[in-house]
Amino acid sequence: APAIGFDGVSMVYANGTEALTDVSLSVRRGEFVSLVGPSGCGKSTLLRLAAGFEQASAGSVRTDGAALGYVFQDATLLPWRSVRRNVELPGRLGGLSAERSRERAADAIRRVGLEGFEDHRPAQLSGGMRMRVSIARALTLQPKLFLFDEPFGALDEMTRERLNEEVASLFVSDPFAGLFVTHSVPESVFMSTRVVVLSGRPGRVVDDIGVPFGYPRP
Ligand code: ADP
Ligand code: ADP
Repeated sequence: APAIGFDGVSMVYANGTEALTDVSLSVRRGEFVSLVGPSGCGKSTLLRLAAGFEQASAGSVRTDGAALGYVFQDATLLPWRSVRRNVELPGRLGGLSAERSRERAADAIRRVGLEGFEDHRPAQLSGGMRMRVSIARALTLQPKLFLFDEPFGALDEMTRERLNEEVASLFVSDPFAGLFVTHSVPESVFMSTRVVVLSGRPGRVVDDIGVPFGYPRP
């Protein structure tokens, strides 16, 4: 089974806004799918449906039940908590013991290269480092489905490229199913095995293009 499957999905918000219409798309483990398209075409909505934060108005959204990781645009860290405590949080909320959460967090912090920063608070870190904390937090549940909602849009170009490489290497070392929203076409090409183009209001899939993963940037 695919890690995530949308079948004939439409989404109308409570205020009547039609965000998506008749979207069918499935993503298997080992596929990293970029979602591109103009602002307002429903990319974030698709991720929220995948995560179960919203319910589709029509059609079905199915996952294989494996853990998922969600990386938000603005990192959304708890400012009064240390890096370690931020990263431990999903484990604790997900019912892991304190010890197990600590182990998972330490491992995730190592994987994103933030050893030595465990006791820092988010405000003491650069934007790029805060995004690494956010990625580490998503890694603690060892997700097989990874949802990225335009994570690097607010970062400078150098930091963004470095994080592109880092997320790409996480994918290569332990392939997950990825859905990655971005406004950057070069980033979408570099960061995916498929580029899915959404367009219109409500949004629908207008193109689905396979690309070689890690293609050199222009
Ligand atoms: P994108 O991520 O492609 O910019 P979104 O999924 O954020 O698109 O939004 C798709 C459409 O749904 C837009 O018209 C947006 O204004 C609307 N929308 C998004 N979230 C909500 C919400 N919670 N309530 C009502 N309308 C929403
Ligand atoms: P990034 O590109 O990840 O945003 P920067 O370019 O801002 O990171 O910083 C480069 C390096 O400087 C970091 O990898 C880190 O080792 C160090 N650094 C950045 N911010 C801090 C900080 N607040 N305290 C200590 N070291 C820092």
